[in-house]
Amino acid sequence: MTTDTATQNSTRETMGFQTEVKQLLQLMIHSLYSNREIFLRELISNASDACDKLRFEALHNSALFENDSDFKIRVSFDKDARTLTISDNGIGMSRDEVISNLGTIAKSGTREFFSQLSGDQKKDASLIGQFGVGFYSSFIVAERVVVVTRRAGLEQDQGVRWESEGAGEFNIEMTTKATRGTDITLHLRAEGQDDLLSSYKLRSIIRRYSDHIVQPIVMKKEEWDAEAKAQVVRDEDETVNQASALWARNKSDITPEQYAEFYKHVGHDFEDPLTWTHARVEGKTEYTQLLYIPSRAPFDMWDRNARHGVKLYVRRVFIMDDAEQLMPTYLRFVRGVVDSNDLPLNVSREILQESKDIESIRNGCSKKVLGMLSDLAESDEAESKEKYAKFWGEFGRVLKEGVGEDYANKEKIASLLRFASTLADTTDETVSLAAYISRMKPEQEKIYFVTAESFNAAKNSPHLEVFRKKGIEVLLLSDRVDEWVVSNLSEFDGKPLVSVAKGGLDLGKLEDEAEKKEQEKDAGDFKDLTEKIAKSLGERVKEVRVTHRLTDSPACLVADEHDVSGNLARILKAAGQNAPTSKPILEINPRHPVVLRLKYEDQRFDDWAAVLFDQALLAEGGHLDDPATFVKRMNQLMLDMSGTGK
Ligand code: ADP
Repeated sequence: MTTDTATQNSTRETMGFQTEVKQLLQLMIHSLYSNREIFLRELISNASDACDKLRFEALHNSALFENDSDFKIRVSFDKDARTLTISDNGIGMSRDEVISNLGTIAKSGTREFFSQLSGDQKKDASLIGQFGVGFYSSFIVAERVVVVTRRAGLEQDQGVRWESEGAGEFNIEMTTKATRGTDITLHLRAEGQDDLLSSYKLRSIIRRYSDHIVQPIVMKKEEWDAEAKAQVVRDEDETVNQASALWARNKSDITPEQYAEFYKHVGHDFEDPLTWTHARVEGKTEYTQLLYIPSRAPFDMWDRNARHGVKLYVRRVFIMDDAEQLMPTYLRFVRGVVDSNDLPLNVSREILQESKDIESIRNGCSKKVLGMLSDLAESDEAESKEKYAKFWGEFGRVLKEGVGEDYANKEKIASLLRFASTLADTTDETVSLAAYISRMKPEQEKIYFVTAESFNAAKNSPHLEVFRKKGIEVLLLSDRVDEWVVSNLSEFDGKPLVSVAKGGLDLGKLEDEAEKKEQEKDAGDFKDLTEKIAKSLGERVKEVRVTHRLTDSPACLVADEHDVSGNLARILKAAGQNAPTSKPILEINPRHPVVLRLKYEDQRFDDWAAVLFDQALLAEGGHLDDPATFVKRMNQLMLDMSGTGK
């Protein structure tokens, strides 16, 4: 940030916007123009939040009210000056707050976010919507914006005037402001904005987008004057919105559009929600919940410090944003409001952590959200199915965390999981555990899965060969979080979940007596060879044994029953954590020509054994410690085979 003048606080200063703000401003003006009316929703939404914040702070310090505890948001316009003003008597801002709130974007991941913008207006518009446009959207319709604000409780001469044309810079100076709160004046662009200078138009925008706002949004009354034969403005206020908490109204009195607009306000989102649930809960503790599932994951969902979650109200009084205690972490994508009847108004985050009421609210909310998702997932209606698929695509990976996090709801969460599978051609995760079970082979007793680093690595894993041959479905797990899921989910509906790459492969009744006999015979026939390979590989393996998992590949690695899988060990290592060191078991395919040849190999036996091990490691997505030696050995063996080796 650059400063022209050294003296602060008294003189006018010019400062530069943070680079990201400049980018946002430019892009927004172009890509959101067709939606320009939303600027009013954004400014009113901020004004409402500012009133909520003051009401909350005043719980501990009533002097902040400055003898005026009636909150109000005023929208006015001046046709001649071509200005529109949105005023609130909320918390207001200090000088430092103005500079940081209206000059920078304090969201982590902002830079990465902007690097995704493509220049394609349509795509960028929806991305920017996802980012949240807020205050800066005023520049869609205004060529100059003036903010005059004073933080509640500060002296009158501690007002701040901020002004900008939305290009690279803004001016800031101290000013006097008699009343607390914020006035935002938009000097409308010369072209195309005249319709906004109309009471009728403004009222219709407010009713459409901001009806749910709790504070009254007032405008000067306008009436038809018969004598003057014209609309005249009276010196009398009129409330334009319903000004009552939406969640406290009866469900039957709320339209889907009103639910959607309210969501955009609480969720700071631009798009409609995917679905929602609204209920008044009575019992041990009384509360109202209005919970939404967004249509799209926010750009910073993986940032655990980002602003997320549900707002807490106590008897209609706003208490706090993102009260993380209200929702378990694996449901952090849920947005909305919880309004408690029982909590004290002076509740703090510390109290929330201990509160029994909160615990029961959290349990109730988790159940409600999971129930809502189940209804979507299990519905026969195409629209619901589509919504569930969309939900899963956006938030499935987050929900998966719940399997290990929410013991009480584990079975329910497991029923919501979707996986890719060997019976489907796509990478899409579409198979539920229940669907898998319903099409299991009659003799099949277990749910089989493979984990790998990518979908392709899972799909082409050598461990699947025998399952393909027998036509048994295997779930393909390639999300990092899947390892966490399967380590916490040992069974579903009485059927154990089993990794195809772990332990001895016991296909149970899926194998007949003849196959079992043959395997025993192979183990005997190849005993010498497996021992010799084990000796050659030494510390690299726990054991070498004959396998019947493979049909096409010569060898594969498996983890011992209770050891960490190779995939999980690699994930832990990549995350910088100490993976327990357990050695893999090398399994060789007694039908493979390479293995058969090895029975008669003397001279280069060690090279063959090492290559066999290394390629098994590569095939399951592992990394070689010493790739150069592997390549050298391979080349040597190829030359040998072609008869030109030395
Ligand atoms: P967001 O509302 O998503 O945080 P904005 O860019 O709209 O983003 O606003 C940035 C910040 O500026 C807000 O978080 C708030 O702290 C402050 N702010 C905006 N409008 C007002 C207002 N009318 N009164 C007080 N603070 C405001």
